Amino acid sequence: MAKYTPMIEQYLAIKAEVQDAFLFFRLGDFYEMFFDDAVLAARELEITLTGREGGMDERIPMCGVPHHSAENYVARLVEKGYKVAICEQVEDPSEAKGVVRREVVRIVTPGTVMDARSLSETSNNYIAAVVLSGGGYGFAACDISTGELYVTRLDGSFELLLDELNVYSPSELLGSPALLEQIRGGSAAWLRSAVMTERESRTIAPGSVLAPEGQFSDAQLAALPEGGRETLSLLMGYLMDTQKRSLSHIKHIRVYEPSQYMVMDPFTRRNLELVETVRDRSKKGTLLWLLDKTVTAMGGRLLRRWIEKPLMSASHISDRLEAVERLYHQLIVRDDLRTSLKEVYDLERLTARIAYGSANARDLVALKASLQQVPLLQQLCQTSGSATLAKLAARIDPCQDLMMAIADAIVDEPPVSIRDGGMIRAGLSARLDQLREASTNGKMWLAELERQERERTGIKSLKIGFNKVFGYYIEVTKSNLNQLEEGRYERKQTLANAERFVTPQLKEKEALILDAEESMVGLEHELFVELRDRLAGHISRLQQLAELIATADVYQSLAHVSASNRFTKPEVGEFFELQIEEGRHPVVEAVLEDGVFIANETSLSKETGSMLLITGPNMAGKSTYMRQVAIICLMAQIGCFVPARQAKMPIIDRIFTRIGAADDLIGGQSTFMVEMMDIQIMTEKATAQSLVIIDELGRGTSTGEGMAIAQAVIEYLHDTIGCKTLVSTHFHELAHLEESLRDLRNYCMAVKESGQQVTFLRRLIRGAASTSYGIYCAQIAGLPSGIIERSYALLHGFEARTELLKSGQEAAATTATEQEDTAPVPAPQPDPAPSASYQIEQLSLFTVAEQAAEK
Ligand code: ADP
Repeated sequence: MAKYTPMIEQYLAIKAEVQDAFLFFRLGDFYEMFFDDAVLAARELEITLTGREGGMDERIPMCGVPHHSAENYVARLVEKGYKVAICEQVEDPSEAKGVVRREVVRIVTPGTVMDARSLSETSNNYIAAVVLSGGGYGFAACDISTGELYVTRLDGSFELLLDELNVYSPSELLGSPALLEQIRGGSAAWLRSAVMTERESRTIAPGSVLAPEGQFSDAQLAALPEGGRETLSLLMGYLMDTQKRSLSHIKHIRVYEPSQYMVMDPFTRRNLELVETVRDRSKKGTLLWLLDKTVTAMGGRLLRRWIEKPLMSASHISDRLEAVERLYHQLIVRDDLRTSLKEVYDLERLTARIAYGSANARDLVALKASLQQVPLLQQLCQTSGSATLAKLAARIDPCQDLMMAIADAIVDEPPVSIRDGGMIRAGLSARLDQLREASTNGKMWLAELERQERERTGIKSLKIGFNKVFGYYIEVTKSNLNQLEEGRYERKQTLANAERFVTPQLKEKEALILDAEESMVGLEHELFVELRDRLAGHISRLQQLAELIATADVYQSLAHVSASNRFTKPEVGEFFELQIEEGRHPVVEAVLEDGVFIANETSLSKETGSMLLITGPNMAGKSTYMRQVAIICLMAQIGCFVPARQAKMPIIDRIFTRIGAADDLIGGQSTFMVEMMDIQIMTEKATAQSLVIIDELGRGTSTGEGMAIAQAVIEYLHDTIGCKTLVSTHFHELAHLEESLRDLRNYCMAVKESGQQVTFLRRLIRGAASTSYGIYCAQIAGLPSGIIERSYALLHGFEARTELLKSGQEAAATTATEQEDTAPVPAPQPDPAPSASYQIEQLSLFTVAEQAAEK
């Protein structure tokens, strides 16, 4: 019976262990893939599919990539969401009896990439783990490229879990098959791009966790929340199985309570365009884009985390604001900070690579250059006049001993490879210096030999060269061969027009030179690794330093943006009242191409009403205004100045938004259902400290039903929850609620009409709009005049009927309807712009608004 060859048997045995990954099987200078892996990899990587005899009748599909360029191919597969198991030869082929032993040395997965090419500088790459535990979830997220590790417990609902996942948007998620299935079903498109790795959590002895020996201290483990050990074990177990090397940079567990941060559901995060736009998921046009004037990569990532997690503690917020305020006023300190930070590399990732054993000599030089800036950075923080920055400076350990260790050992411009020498400074190792001298002397001896041989033979073109196969040789062109002394030269290689020779003397010297070179390169590698390991013993110091520098970078960024965009320091505290004077939407303002952004007031309190019902035509600026209030709350809670003349901001525990734009994401008929589901969650989760924003409440169903639901929801939020609420609606009829709901106030976006023209003044004013200008919009959009005229006619008919019904003349209304049914359509209005019947109060405001618009 036919059998596979021993090597293919070995392949199959290893592949059985890593079924969900491509197996890169090392064969000499190549990584080969076989069977289905080969077919799929050939397609995904666009490389040639070949075949190989494997002992059976049919050839085995095979494809391969050269080992020196493998990283590129691995990166491409991982970017496509695949995993790649790297299988190396782990014994010297010349010493192997039978098939060379091979082992998987690492599995690269989307959540565990270390290669800088596959990582975005400006965002973290998280792998998350979730475990169902006692009616809640244990949750852990880790970025192995920086060593950050977060653990928390999420009590109660599944939505909370989705919110948390959304904060990290992990590229890989670990969990039981059942839980992952539920997450797949329950989340929007954003999470589907995460690779879901099914893995049951293993039973662990009570009180222990599955992690490398000594990874975490007992105190750290004791601080874990319920379910934390299981989750951490799931995560660390997977990392150990896939990385198979030191994880010593993942030592610090950051345990947190979800209640330390403002809660936002995935839709709200999207709608407010915090870190990516709804339309094309780009950074430009987001809050992060506006606020990000960080100079270091780690500062950029930290700012993103701050935006994703606004604080709930008034004192922490005021600490941050204090630092921003100082730097806001201290332009010189801020500029010096920026200049100095520009010299700082990505310390977090450098540090992680050192611990992980993948840093090269250039990484160490980058670390040195970064550390050289630390004394200055520390001094700038100390002298900034900010208590927060002074505290930060006091925590800085400048790590100058590590800087010196690198400076003493590594040359200023080492090569990329750590296997070719050229990294270590002279004077570090006497042995290395001797070897170098031997090699230099050897080369000088060769030059001398070349001179002597030329002289002896009289051949000017004679030269001494080197190649890998034949070593050192003396080369003589064919036309000069007759000038060589018989018997003195041993022929080694024949070329088209030259011959290469060696002499016993040359052979002897060659051995010495090559030995010295090999020893030199080996010794350099050894010395380098020794230094890297020594640095790895100081990972915690470097990590803490990286975090402090990143924090200083974020402060300077927020101060810089606040100063250049005329932001002001908000008063933040645990009161109910929210006051924004001349508030602006910072991002809309920044991208506004023509005209000025019109500032608006916001006052939400028991006295002025905590619920605004906003009416006004499309494009009037309603949703911009509502988003602006939410963004200002959020900016205040990350510790940033806000776009307003003055702001008094209460701490908000949750922001809910239900804003149209997100509909793009879902599409189709489910829009209304999704809105209702969101509102359900809102009614369940909102508290009096929450901010609720609903755009176009009640659309997507029939007018009657939509209006009924809208009113009922408004009443519920008003009576039962008492949260701050901004609602926009096109049901002007709801304006009457102002009479029955104590905290509700009608507002509208002012509009100026002159002749056929309607101008949006973008100003929020008291009162309700009486028309949507929907038909006017249709006209501007260029609909045929016939349709426009007919629309106005029908509208007047409807309005007439409503008026009659309102005045309680039931009988008359019936007659009117009957009449209308038979009567010809009323003549179209000559002036198509409808007449708005604003309240007196609004009209008086118009002049103010107009002036503002003309400014
Ligand atoms: P609505 O929600 O009422 O349909 P939007 O809020 O979407 O209107 O605003 C429409 C456009 O008007 C925005 O894209 C923005 O360019 C502009 N805009 C909105 N508010 C202002 C403002 N306060 N100042 C200047 N332009 C604004």
